[in-house]
Parts: sequence; C-alpha cells; structure tokens
Amino acid sequence: MRILVALDQGTTSSRAIVFDEAGRTLASHAIEFKQHYPQPGWVEHDPDDILGTQVEALQKAVKMSKVDVRDIAAIGITNQRETTLLWEKDTGRCVHNAIVWQCRRTAPYVEKLLREGYGETIRKKTGLVPDAYFSGTKLAWLLDTLNLHERAEKGELCFGTVDSFLAWNLVEGRPHVTDATNAGRTMLFNLHTQQWDDELLGMLNIPRAVLPQVVDTAQVIGNLRPEILGRPIPVAAMAGDQHASLFGQACFEPGMVKNTYGTGCFMLMNTGEVPVESQNGLLTTMAWRLDGKPTFALEGSVFMGGATVQWLRDEMKLIKTAAESEQIAESVPDTAGVFLVPAFTGLGAPYWDMYSRGTIVGMTRGTGRAHIVRAALEAICYQSCDLFRAMVADRGHHAPKHMNVDGGASANGFMMQFQADILGVPVIRPVVLETTALGAALLAGIGAGVYASKEEAAAMVRPDLTFHPRMADRDRDLALYGWHRAVERSRGWVEPDK
Ligand code: ADP
Repeated sequence: MRILVALDQGTTSSRAIVFDEAGRTLASHAIEFKQHYPQPGWVEHDPDDILGTQVEALQKAVKMSKVDVRDIAAIGITNQRETTLLWEKDTGRCVHNAIVWQCRRTAPYVEKLLREGYGETIRKKTGLVPDAYFSGTKLAWLLDTLNLHERAEKGELCFGTVDSFLAWNLVEGRPHVTDATNAGRTMLFNLHTQQWDDELLGMLNIPRAVLPQVVDTAQVIGNLRPEILGRPIPVAAMAGDQHASLFGQACFEPGMVKNTYGTGCFMLMNTGEVPVESQNGLLTTMAWRLDGKPTFALEGSVFMGGATVQWLRDEMKLIKTAAESEQIAESVPDTAGVFLVPAFTGLGAPYWDMYSRGTIVGMTRGTGRAHIVRAALEAICYQSCDLFRAMVADRGHHAPKHMNVDGGASANGFMMQFQADILGVPVIRPVVLETTALGAALLAGIGAGVYASKEEAAAMVRPDLTFHPRMADRDRDLALYGWHRAVERSRGWVEPDK
C-alpha cells in the first residue's frame, strides 16, 4: 500500500507518474494537448482537453506500471499555476475556455488597478507584483465579459485554478477547494491572514461565493471517483508546480533554494515562517501549508533559460540539438571575452527592464561559433546567479550552502559546473529530475499518512551529482563584472516613444 501517483497538469501536456515507496519512477505517461490563440497575446485551453488528457495519462501510467491499484496509497495533484476556470455548480459545465497564465488579455485591468493606486496594497497583501499572469483579473474579465455577476453572487458558479478544477472533477462529492500555494497566485489571497481578502475582492468586484475553500497543501480532500481506476483512492495533496518542485527537492529549511532550468528558469527560496518582502522585484509566495502552518518562499524567474538554447538551434543554427551545446561549449577554454545577454523580451528580476534587448558584446575577429554557444549557456547561469544573489540580499542571511537544480536543461553538465563556479556554492542534481511530480507524490504521501513527517518523505529525494565550485574568487569577480557590464549595454535599447 505504498505506491504514490502524481498528476502533473502542465501548460502543454498532462502527465502522470507512478512512484514506488522509495521514490523511484515505475511509469510515466504524458499527453500533449492543443493551445488556443484566439487573438494575438491571448492563450486558452479547452477544459475538456485538460481533464481528458489528465485522466488518460493517469490510466495509462498506472497500467504501464503494472502495480495493483489496491497498492496505490494516495494521489497528489500538481499543476500549471494561475490558469483560470469558471464553471456552473449544477452542471459542472465551464462557461468559457480556461484562460492560461500566459494570456495578456487583462493587461488593461492591471493598468487600471495601478492607476487607482492599488499597486502597494497588492504587493503588501499578496506578495505579488501586479500582473495579468495572476488569476484575479482573469476571473474579473470572465464575470464582466460574460455578464455573470448576478449568477456569481447567487452562488451558481465556481471559480478555480487547475488544481481546483481537477479536484472538482476527479474527486467524489465534487469538493470546491484549492490549496494555499495555488490560492497565493490569484492576487486575491492575503498571505498574512491566509484567507481571501475582502479589499482585494472588492477592487476587482469578485463575489466571495465563487471562490473555493482554501485547504492545506497536503491533506485528503476525498477519494478519486472509483470509475477512473476501479477503486476509490485518496487524493491527498495539491500544489502549484514550482511549489511542488521545491518540496520534491526537499528544500525544507529556510534558505534552501532550487532552480528549475526549463524554457525559462524558476528559482524559489524557502524563507520559513517569514513572508520576506523583496527589495529586488522578486515575488513573495507560499512554499506550502502543512497542518495549517504556512511556509513562505521568494520566487524569481529568468525569461530566457532553455529558450536561449532553442534560439541557438532554431534561429542561429549554431547547434543541431540542445544536448550538443555542451560539447561545443567545452571545445573552447572560455568565451574569449564574449558575453551574450538574452534579453529578447526584456529582463526580469532583479532588473525589470522591458526595454532591454538581446546583446552580444566583446567579439573580436577571432570569435567563433563555440564562443557564442558557450556565452549563451553561461548567460543562463549568470541570470540565475543574479536571482540567487537578489534572494540572499532580500533574506539578509549568508548564502545557502548549495543550490538544488532540475529541469530539462540541468542535464547540461557544462552549465551546471559553470553555475556552481559562478555562484561559489555547490550545485546538486537529484536522481529524479521530475521533482514537480515527485514533490506532489511526497506531499500526497504525507497527506495520506504514508510518511509520518516531511523528513521521512525527504529520504526519497536522492542526490545524483554534485558540482563543486572550482573557479578562483578573483576569476569569479571578473566574470561577474564583465556580465554586469554586458547587461548595462543591453538595457534601455528599445526607445518606447519612437
Ligand atoms: P519545459 O518544462 O519548460 O518545457 P524542460 O524542463 O522540458 O522545459 O526543458 C526543455 C528546455 O531545456 C528546452 O528549452 C531545451 O532547449 C533545454 N535543454 C534540453 N536539454 C538541454 C541540454 N542538454 N543543454 C542545454 N539545454 C537543454
């Protein structure tokens, strides 16, 4: 009775992974689904696709794993964050496609909130930088555009992020719940009180009656509907993807930090019981909430992580495969003074400059393909280093003893070594790189009582490789000095008025 299953409902695919009690992957199945772009900058998902692919992935993964369904102790849900759904309580029918986190349609709502002077309130109460990513303005848009305020007031409608939507549809008795990590991404949830906030609801004219009940990250919310796997199985955890991954890296102590190298990079640092306010443009967010006790985190992201490698491959044609970048970068001893700043869509934290653009500096007649490839990989590490340093500065403590890494691009050994060199702390890569799913499974194990504590669950998280810093302090300082000069060159390139 110790098998744990994670449902990982992502932006482009739904995945299910079956883990044994030692945290080993027994089977994994992912199904991609369609992205809808009804207008430039708008992104939607069909709710039936989300649900259908997730159920199918679950059934297939369990079948492939050959486990006896009776041995599955619990299921954990982790999900793309902020994506917004609204459905009828009576019928379960969604009134609109899901509005995906990337969708920019509510940018005018955010501008209005800022004009009305809500910026500081939002920052203070939610820990977020006001933005169209977060669910609040998306829900307001749905209620306004579809003229649903009256029905919402009467309690005829349910709002939910993807965790909530899956719980409603997969769990017996249709609970209308969301976990605190997901609630924390709505811009409606007060981190300090751990509740929906009347002032925030009022500012977007959202009636309380549409909101789900906020539950702990690990707790049994009910049983999986028996027709799905033939038996009722406790659904015992829900967590937003980055939060699950922080947990799946066993970053339980304040100051522990993980970085996920995907298309973009997502870094979260556990700050313990304290919701640290950032002076560097980072977000304050939930790490998780267990037994009613919130743990907080700082969050920052690099827009162009693995996407920089895709650019080398697809646009520049400097490499044939992402993996090849490692060997090419290692074919030269250094970049020979070249820095590449992949500010293709501007720069995020700690710079927040939407007018900066991609820049290559320091080229000479001898600069070649390998130097550029190497500079691109190093740039991913430099950007992550900037985030790391911002987090350490915000928290006001010494640098963490190490950084945990995962995600597709963390497979690149050159990059991970350079990351350790430039941070000056070891970088640890775990055996299971799907830390998001592992985190959801471990949380479910805690929620269902398979593990007595998170420390017991942490035994399932095993380091694979540690990259120790080898760079001399002086060389590190020089490299970072060069990088920051290059960043300066990239800034303010777009002239907004011209
Ligand atoms: P996502 O979850 O955002 O889709 P993944 O975690 O699957 O991302 O990682 C894919 C990204 O990692 C791609 O942008 C790809 O270019 C990059 N990537 C994959 N393998 C490597 C590698 N060996 N070296 C550098 N980048 C890589």
